[in-house]
Amino acid sequence: MNDINNPSLSSWISVPESSDFPIQNIPFGIIRYEGVSPRAASRIGDKVIDLYSLATLGYFHDLHIVPEVFLKPSLNDFISLGRPTWRAVRSRLMELFESGNTFLRERVKDHSVIIHAIHEVEMLLPVEVGDYTDFYSSIEHATNVGIMFRDPENALLPNWRHIPVGYHGRSSSIVVSGTPIHRPKGQTKSDGAEHPEFGPSNQVDFELEMAFIAGKKSSLGDSIPVKEAEEYIFGMVLFNDLSARDIQKWEYVPLGPFLGKNFGSVASPWIVTLDALETFRVEGPKQEPDVLPYLQSEGSRNFDIQLDVLIQPDGGTAHRVCHSNFKFMYWNMSQQLAHHTVNGCNINVGDMYASGTISGHVPGSFGSMLEIAWKGTRPVQMPDGSERKFIHDNDTIIMRGYAVRNGLRIGFGEVTTRILPAKK
Ligand code: MN
Repeated sequence: MNDINNPSLSSWISVPESSDFPIQNIPFGIIRYEGVSPRAASRIGDKVIDLYSLATLGYFHDLHIVPEVFLKPSLNDFISLGRPTWRAVRSRLMELFESGNTFLRERVKDHSVIIHAIHEVEMLLPVEVGDYTDFYSSIEHATNVGIMFRDPENALLPNWRHIPVGYHGRSSSIVVSGTPIHRPKGQTKSDGAEHPEFGPSNQVDFELEMAFIAGKKSSLGDSIPVKEAEEYIFGMVLFNDLSARDIQKWEYVPLGPFLGKNFGSVASPWIVTLDALETFRVEGPKQEPDVLPYLQSEGSRNFDIQLDVLIQPDGGTAHRVCHSNFKFMYWNMSQQLAHHTVNGCNINVGDMYASGTISGHVPGSFGSMLEIAWKGTRPVQMPDGSERKFIHDNDTIIMRGYAVRNGLRIGFGEVTTRILPAKK
């Protein structure tokens, strides 16, 4: 595509070594800082770039964008302007902040309104999420869960290799990284117990996921073909789909996830565009048997994104419990979107589509405590001597994601979630 992924580009804003946010990234988010209303922003290194201020000062004057589109509590209106506009803004930011360009660099009086330190701003949820869908697209995760809860001999259900399985989730409880979540209360029933009980969940878990954000709407009745699906994707975030396994286990038959899944799902604040991820495309796992024609996809539709999960006890040291990779996904995003709309279901800008838990086949790559501690039979030893089968009160779950190739690192930063005790 372009030089946007040229690893030799550098910025006059200093970028710490191994930063997720070099000038080749240019993610989009929503910030708030002292005295101003929420607005769109990008990031280079540890500096945040206020897009509304850039626009009002005339740096986008030839791009035909009304500055107010950046003065919103979500990116939805900006995203709705379409891919040529996202690309034009990204290119302009790269141009303005590239080392050799002195145009903005020398207008020092503009810097104080345009450039802010990351620790001086609050990050908000970047989009208003109308609809949220959660897929179940990692074959290793689906197999592990099938072995634990059903039949080791037939761990995958018969439809799994034919359909990108998913369910409609809850958007009202999607929050941005850093938002603490109370341990949910609910109804559970232990194995062998005669009656269900009510109380705080004892099996709060994370699910290591990534989500893509719809960048273009479709009309009711229309289907999005696999080969056009990426035109409908604005970008991706890290996603911690919190789960209460004991509630989930008792409620999920016959209609699937409900209260075990909707008490909080946490997204990272910076949306990384598919353009920024272009360098990291890979082919997905071979699909066998062949999928139906409407799901057949060509080319490299997966992305090589390394993923880590750490658990940090209250006041303690963060301990890594998982290292996985988005490229393990059996079903790619284009197939997910094609399947989602094949019946005529319409999508809207800002919709969020999560991957499902991303587990790999190698040791240490499982994306949930359910699998890591194998239903509580293999507890994780923490550096402070404690054990984890699931998440304890006041633990913080930290997820990180980054892609590295040819000296270029593009990352997502973090999604962190502290689990507070159940409300009285
Ligand atoms: Mn999930």
